[in-house]
Amino acid sequence: MQFDIITIFPHIFNSYFNESIIKRAQQKKLVKINIHNLRDYTTDKHKTTDDKPYGGGPGMVMMVEPIFKAVNALKKSKVKSQKSKVILFSPKGKKFDQKMAKRFSKLDRLIMICGRYEGVDERVAKYIADEEISIGDYILTGGESPAMIVVDAVSRLIPGVLGKKESLEEVKGSYPIYTRPENFKGWRVPKILLSGNHKKIEEWRDKKGGLS
Ligand code: SAM
Repeated sequence: MQFDIITIFPHIFNSYFNESIIKRAQQKKLVKINIHNLRDYTTDKHKTTDDKPYGGGPGMVMMVEPIFKAVNALKKSKVKSQKSKVILFSPKGKKFDQKMAKRFSKLDRLIMICGRYEGVDERVAKYIADEEISIGDYILTGGESPAMIVVDAVSRLIPGVLGKKESLEEVKGSYPIYTRPENFKGWRVPKILLSGNHKKIEEWRDKKGGLS
């Protein structure tokens, strides 16, 4: 699967995408992550990507034209099959959840637009993006951390990305887990997990489980 991230801060991603599971997934060629500097799609010498809001008000708005050019250029570059989507990060978007991550993991390509400042000219949501996505009910300074979250949550659903050490949780969901020691300062592991009764353990985990 290919992720294309459009941003004015391309260096933000370096450390996160070059560690651990996401790094391995790229080395195994299960995942490809391309970071695109939006300033490369500007036409003026200052590489301007934002302007004042119509109607007045504080802050600056990211302009539609460089984003339009960036997305168009990416769409022209060939990816094997064309199961792709363009998403725009926005606090007013649809809430990102595990179901959405699963849906995205079936795509060949996800193009992500990271906003900054006061946000993005509404025409991007209306005419360019397929979906507007929020990662939660709070306002961040930019769409870059949401992009990392989406890449992380989607990548780990791609077959082969998780190794043996990480894959169990995907099968069973988020139930409480423990490891040695059995008793730490009087804080004990639930007896059921020490019982050896796998049927009962499964039932207990189902009852306590969250995502699956
Ligand atoms: N004025 C905007 C508003 O109140 O909706 C906030 C803009 S925010 C400071 C700048 C950018 O950060 C947004 O364009 C978006 O790309 C990103 N962003 C902020 N909060 C987000 C969230 N909860 N989910 C996804 N993206 C978010």
